[in-house]
Amino acid sequence: MSATDSQRMEKIVSLCKRRGFIFQSSEIYGGLNGLWDYGPLGVELKRNLKNYWWRVMVHERDDVVGMDGSILMNRAVWKASGHEDTFSDPMVDCLLTQRRFRADQIEPQSGTVLHFAGAVDEKLLRETFDYTFGDIDELKRRELEEHYRQCKSLDDLTKHPNADVREFAKTRLGQIARPIRLDEPFSVLLPKGKPPESARKIAIQYYQQRGLANPTVSGERTEKVENTTRYNPENGSLLTEPRSFNLMFKTYVGATEDESSVTYLRPETAQAIFVQFKNVLDVSRKKLPFGIAQIGKAFRNEINPRNFTFRSREFEQMELEYFCRPEEGMKLLEYWKEERLRFYENIGIPTNHLHVLTVPDEERAFYSKGTYDIEYDFPFGRQELEGVAYRTDYDLSQHQKASGKSLEYFDEETKQKFIPHVIEPSAGVDRTVLALICEAYSEDEAPDEKGKMETRTVLRFHPRVAPVKCAVFPLLKNKEPLVAKAKEIVRLLRPHMFVFYDESGAIGRRYRRQDEVGTPFGVTVDFETLGEKDVALKDTVTLRERDSMKQERVAIKDLAAILVSRIS
Ligand code: ATP
Repeated sequence: MSATDSQRMEKIVSLCKRRGFIFQSSEIYGGLNGLWDYGPLGVELKRNLKNYWWRVMVHERDDVVGMDGSILMNRAVWKASGHEDTFSDPMVDCLLTQRRFRADQIEPQSGTVLHFAGAVDEKLLRETFDYTFGDIDELKRRELEEHYRQCKSLDDLTKHPNADVREFAKTRLGQIARPIRLDEPFSVLLPKGKPPESARKIAIQYYQQRGLANPTVSGERTEKVENTTRYNPENGSLLTEPRSFNLMFKTYVGATEDESSVTYLRPETAQAIFVQFKNVLDVSRKKLPFGIAQIGKAFRNEINPRNFTFRSREFEQMELEYFCRPEEGMKLLEYWKEERLRFYENIGIPTNHLHVLTVPDEERAFYSKGTYDIEYDFPFGRQELEGVAYRTDYDLSQHQKASGKSLEYFDEETKQKFIPHVIEPSAGVDRTVLALICEAYSEDEAPDEKGKMETRTVLRFHPRVAPVKCAVFPLLKNKEPLVAKAKEIVRLLRPHMFVFYDESGAIGRRYRRQDEVGTPFGVTVDFETLGEKDVALKDTVTLRERDSMKQERVAIKDLAAILVSRIS
């Protein structure tokens, strides 16, 4: 991430907290990594996004119905879907800091590796020798000294050829609690241009952590490496071998905590759709192609939650399973990719800010015939917002096999019975909310109270998703007729949209506060509204548009219709 991008991200995170979009979960207790709470404005933004998704994916279509499945399901679902065995990520730990990484997210690095055979605490070795063997007779001491000089290690003293000396050394050494020498190999990657001393420092820290107070590294050798992912990119330390880590949160249903009561918090919403396929088909009497849509929470014990809400451990998904005949699959995959790009355009994320990645064969699930990732350029890099996957008949076949219940579709016209194929557009609510905020965030210049230009922070949300649609201000709060009129307008607009009333502070400051949270329209009730200056202007208000800051005079009776047409 470049310095400006990281600054921009910092400003966004700070605005989110300051204005009540997103807070760290359990913040007063120090938080819990990968978990977030949405504040008063964040929840509105999120709701608007989900409502619009539901509107275009369900309400505006004849071929999609909705459902709302439970988060906990029979464990058999997760066995059949393959999640219990394979829903895992490879993880590695830094041997120095114990920081955990997803092995497949480590950027390949090149440089020189310094391998060390171990380390010894020379000072302690000498002191211990003197202390341990200081009181023995001269002859034995000389023998030990000589041997010690050769082997340079107290442990090696126990390998002395003289059994008497060997036993004596063993007994005495057994009384020494602190480690003196470690024969554990360790390696550090030295990026090009860095001095070897920095790698030795890391190795010294490692052996210190393992219990040596003053380690001197030993058995050093170097090796040139290209594109390795075995080292921590932050400090060069060797990582553990990758181990696979199941991302599902395990829990127990009922009063006994044993194997028979195990299940998982769902890691995706889709499986509830697959296992209810037959019920929904029967009640909705839909013909292929048709879809089942769902919005709901999903949980993944992510190894490395990061980038604000982008990778969380609890998040929401908006998923559609669109069932079709096998021969329609590839065409519908293209159709849904286009539909989904249109969706983003309609909420204010233009297609030219998105990237469609065709997931290569080797990275696609084995059952998928084609997958697109829709990616967005976040300040922290290009990352996936949504996956559109052609999953063939894999999921329904698995559940049919495991449950023994038919999940086939009967085609009345051809009298054929078959398991439908499915296209799955699967979007993340939280990632889209974050993309909306990143896309909307901007700074420009606007005049302050005295006409002096100042930097204005503005969230240029599309009115459709903006948390507050319209703010209503009486010009002065101590003029009762202005306040009464403004409150009357609030009552008039509330059935149609979320409105915010604000009477405190100078009008310019009130506008600025609304710009900062992305309110697209501001209505000001002034003396003209009361007809004091010009009767022709009675019952009109100033309508200000956030982005252009243009103001127009609008009759109160037309206000709701004008705003509704600009918002929906
Ligand atoms: P990634 O590769 O980023 O882990 P994924 O390919 O595993 O994501 P899917 O299983 O395809 O993700 O899930 C569909 C959508 O759910 C993603 O496109 C994303 O929007 C959302 N999603 C998945 N994991 C997370 C998460 N940890 N936090 C927030 N949203 C998520």
